[in-house]
Amino acid sequence: VPPSSSPTFQPVLERIAEEVEHTPGRGRPADYIPALAARDPRAFGMAVAELDGTVYGVGDWQEPFSAQSITKVFTLALDLAREGDELWEHVGREPSGNPFNSLVQLEYENGIPRNPFINAGALVVTDRLQTRTGDAAGELLALLRAESGNPDLDFDEEVAASETAHGDRNAALAHLMASYGNIDNPVPVLLDQYFRQCSIAASCADLALAATFLARHGVRADGTRLLSRSQAKQVNAIMLTCGTYDAAGDFAYRVGLPGKSGVGGGIIAVVPGRCALCVWSPGLDERGNSVAGVAALDRFTTLTGLSVF
Ligand code: GLN
Repeated sequence: VPPSSSPTFQPVLERIAEEVEHTPGRGRPADYIPALAARDPRAFGMAVAELDGTVYGVGDWQEPFSAQSITKVFTLALDLAREGDELWEHVGREPSGNPFNSLVQLEYENGIPRNPFINAGALVVTDRLQTRTGDAAGELLALLRAESGNPDLDFDEEVAASETAHGDRNAALAHLMASYGNIDNPVPVLLDQYFRQCSIAASCADLALAATFLARHGVRADGTRLLSRSQAKQVNAIMLTCGTYDAAGDFAYRVGLPGKSGVGGGIIAVVPGRCALCVWSPGLDERGNSVAGVAALDRFTTLTGLSVF
């Protein structure tokens, strides 16, 4: 990580970390994946990456954590880049208003999940990427390594095994969608790819840097284009409306940025044209979003005035 050359974002990050330190009630780490339950709920880190790769950070910003559903943004980008709008015949673009792992809408909507950021939709995206590449999780890891500039990023086999051992709900989602013909690969193959995808361990610095292509309107760190300008806008829009599940309305109200959370306690957010952020604190609210993470992003946009509104 290049050291910050100008102090632009450093004072605001220090102030937020100080405020968070004094906030009681940090939520509880996810316990349905036993390997995640062990994290200290008081850990906190935050990083801001500018478009040129300059990174500012505070607290545990270089500590790797389980990226989990944050990876759904990157698999969506990879699949959209390959197949374009055909994807939208298999997954919708509406907020679900339901928990991230819910099954209920699938039966009424012919196995077409509401959006790519709930588990059902992410399974469809990974399935399609798997069909096109033969190694969806490997493609994702390569993208994250390249964009973060960190060749050491990797899967966490312990987390992946833990999730596989407790994977009945995701298996149910995949089988139900397969029964409607909306899954291509054998379900065990898909689940293996999906759990490895979710298990990738990365720090706030890594994920803020990896998300800057969305702030650069689709252009990668090396100057090549992953998404068209219009596709980058679309991904950001879906993050805003669906990135924090049944709390997306409240997230837009409080933070006012495209954002994507994961049950590891991380949240990425994008300020188009300016920077990308990642915040991490393992304590979650009842919807699966980091309590201190949302609070920190709320303070960031309030203190800096940077939001899409
Ligand atoms: N791996 C987790 C799951 O599928 C991801 C969920 C999340 O981060 N919200 O349950």
